Amino acid sequence: MPIYEFRCPCCGVLTTELYKMGENGELLTCPNCGHAGLAKQISGFASLGVSGGPGGGNCSPRCSGNCAGCH
Ligand SMILES: [Zn+2]
Repeated sequence: MPIYEFRCPCCGVLTTELYKMGENGELLTCPNCGHAGLAKQISGFASLGVSGGPGGGNCSPRCSGNCAGCH
């Protein structure tokens, strides 16, 4: 079973998880800020310009709805 990295769209923390069939990170929670819904890290994808994020209302309270200002 392959291992993938999931990146928190809120604070950018990487979490390594075993990839399960059908899992895309939406059910994972960031161990750092508690943000629900992590993005599967794609190898070679180095963009740091994440704005907004697909999480929307799932952000932690400290996100204030804008992940760019989180932490
Ligand atoms: Zn986070």
